[in-house]
Amino acid sequence: MSKKPAILGGDGIRQNPLALRVTMRDEESVAAQRVLDADVLSAFIAAEGKFFKGGEMIQKFEDTWAKQYGFDHAISVNSWTSGLVTAIGAVGVEPGDEVICSPYTMSASATCALFYGGIPVFADIDPDTFCLSAESIEHCITERTKAIVVVHLFGHPADMDAIMELARRHDIRVIEDAAQAPGVEYKGQPVGAIGDIGGFSLNFHKHIHTGEGGMLVTNDADLARRCQLIRNHGENAVDHSDESLVNAIGGNYRLTELQAAIGIEQLSRLDGYLAHRRTLAAHLRGRLESVRGLRVQADPVNGTTHAYYVLPIHYNAAEVGLSRNLFVKSVLAELPTPDGPEGTALVEAYVRPLYLSRIYQEQIAIGEKGFPFTCNEGVRYDYSKGICPVAERMYEQELILCPIIREPLDIQVMDDLADAIEKVVENAALISDTLGTMDSSEIFTPVNAANSTNVR
Ligand SMILES: *Cc1c(COP(=O)(O)O)cnc(C)c1O
Repeated sequence: MSKKPAILGGDGIRQNPLALRVTMRDEESVAAQRVLDADVLSAFIAAEGKFFKGGEMIQKFEDTWAKQYGFDHAISVNSWTSGLVTAIGAVGVEPGDEVICSPYTMSASATCALFYGGIPVFADIDPDTFCLSAESIEHCITERTKAIVVVHLFGHPADMDAIMELARRHDIRVIEDAAQAPGVEYKGQPVGAIGDIGGFSLNFHKHIHTGEGGMLVTNDADLARRCQLIRNHGENAVDHSDESLVNAIGGNYRLTELQAAIGIEQLSRLDGYLAHRRTLAAHLRGRLESVRGLRVQADPVNGTTHAYYVLPIHYNAAEVGLSRNLFVKSVLAELPTPDGPEGTALVEAYVRPLYLSRIYQEQIAIGEKGFPFTCNEGVRYDYSKGICPVAERMYEQELILCPIIREPLDIQVMDDLADAIEKVVENAALISDTLGTMDSSEIFTPVNAANSTNVR
């Protein structure tokens, strides 16, 4: 095979397309058919009584999840975004309360606060875990701080000991966004309910899915009840009692029986999927250890595990001798043309720090008068560029993600990717000399990867 880089017209390392995931099996079909045959696609009733907590499949899905990972309560919802909003409501966020969030995550990890008039305040991330750093959180705490939304980004747990210590000291609630970290442990404890409440996403792209969906978990019976109220038109359920009405205003965030039946089958395979991802990650890490300019995130130790939603890699453009954008494009050129994010071997940057998006720049969320950013008289919120330098550096320069550490791909694919990376690094000077002035302004993220038919 020619050693000429594929981006310069040489032969690529691999032509065979990467197999897509097959998520629905016979077990899912049988389970779904059983629900269809029973002709009850949802059994929820929005008033106190037997079906306030849903039908048979919903309750079985929740019980199985709780037992499998050791949570006292699991409450299903129709998306994890709904779950985050529910959690914000359940912990009692009020208009003007501040909620400390990560800037480097999916948007809903922060916008959830806004639904109850909470104001997202962005703390910076740790450069090795990419999760909120306790030190940065501490700088953001004021007397108005009500909650922290901790994200276990890419499947790696945040530094929960330090964060919980801070939260307890300041009487702040902790919500764990474990969307990317189902089945993960932090020092032997399952993530999700180390804080007050947390949960997981079941959207199509996550480790397991129900099309759309989510699962809240908590070890606090009162919070579980608040979640059940918020999920299911709670104002009706509390109407004839003296139970608190706070934040129980009529939402409908209910999952269906069909989704729950599918979810039960998916859940039974989660640990197997996680084991497979860990094997692939370990192999790729081993192969990339000696490659200059690349540093794969370390595997956590001491009873802490990683879900490898994606595998993060630190990139040093100066050491490699190639811009990050050109590096990613060069590696992808060695591999079959991706037809979507699932087939894209490397992406750069992850997401732009959230505070740089218009919702925070213009501070317009609910109505046109600036609510809730204007709630606290004399307090102005700063979302300017520079407030979270680590997140900005990861976005602009340092981070590359590998999203293909997933079933059904195997060690051979990891070896092909490692070969492609080695080939590009070895030829960095040649590529840079030939194409170095190419426009690298378009950052290669999963979103534009999906729209890109020719990455060269
Ligand atoms: C996927 C995801 C969400 C949103 O979950 P949905 O089920 O798509 O609403 C929130 N936070 C993080 C970190 C995610 O990855």
